[in-house]
Amino acid sequence: MTIIDTHSHVYLPEFDQDRETIVERADKAGIIRILMPAIDSTTHENMLEIEKHFAGKCMAMMGLHPCSVMEKYDVELGIIEQHLSKKKFVAIGETGLDFYWDLSFKDQQYEVFQQQISWALQYNIPVVIHSRNSIDECIEMIQKNQDGSLKGVFHCFSGSLQQAKKIMELGFYMGIGGVITFKNSGLDLVMKEAGLSNVILETDAPYLAPVPYRGKRNEPSYLNYVVDKLASVTTASVEEVSEITTANAQKLFSI
Ligand SMILES: [Zn+2]
Repeated sequence: MTIIDTHSHVYLPEFDQDRETIVERADKAGIIRILMPAIDSTTHENMLEIEKHFAGKCMAMMGLHPCSVMEKYDVELGIIEQHLSKKKFVAIGETGLDFYWDLSFKDQQYEVFQQQISWALQYNIPVVIHSRNSIDECIEMIQKNQDGSLKGVFHCFSGSLQQAKKIMELGFYMGIGGVITFKNSGLDLVMKEAGLSNVILETDAPYLAPVPYRGKRNEPSYLNYVVDKLASVTTASVEEVSEITTANAQKLFSI
């Protein structure tokens, strides 16, 4: 069984003490690749170091997280532009809109998201979208930019069936992780109806660990709990869930 963790911040300090063990454990659990979403310039260098160290296993994205959009966002964009011109990245992200924490940079979040969508189109790589309290707004942004060649994923999808359908109509994917194992998340019922055709797997480690580790530090090997849950809510077997989602991730990220 092979699985791809399409969203994992394994370069963060939370893993400094035991990163080798974590990646080894992921290996044993069948995780063939770990895709790393960028946050901002305070973590780009660490991320790129980890990508080099675990060459072929950990692959870096490049982008600016919406929660890191502040006064100096133009400096951050300049740094990203530099990185993009120097090497190939597996995706742009994570980008998007976050209306949960702080609304003071709402306009700038839109501007930065639009810039990153444009880079995804320019470099012909997917865009990885963070849409906390903003799924409809993010869908609108993609609708506006979808010229037939834009591709990407709504990371940590936890929306309604109607939103899932809109995302699939746009040719986009949904990143499913630990939230589907949470009691009363309702995501299991949505995914039962939506099916697996546009689903890829993610941990969002170190955050959002699945049950039975909810509240603890998350890690790629825990994806097996998400696979089990998806198999139990759809008609697919555990093997089929891993096969379908791995094929989806390989297609989306060209890996
Ligand atoms: Zn993330």
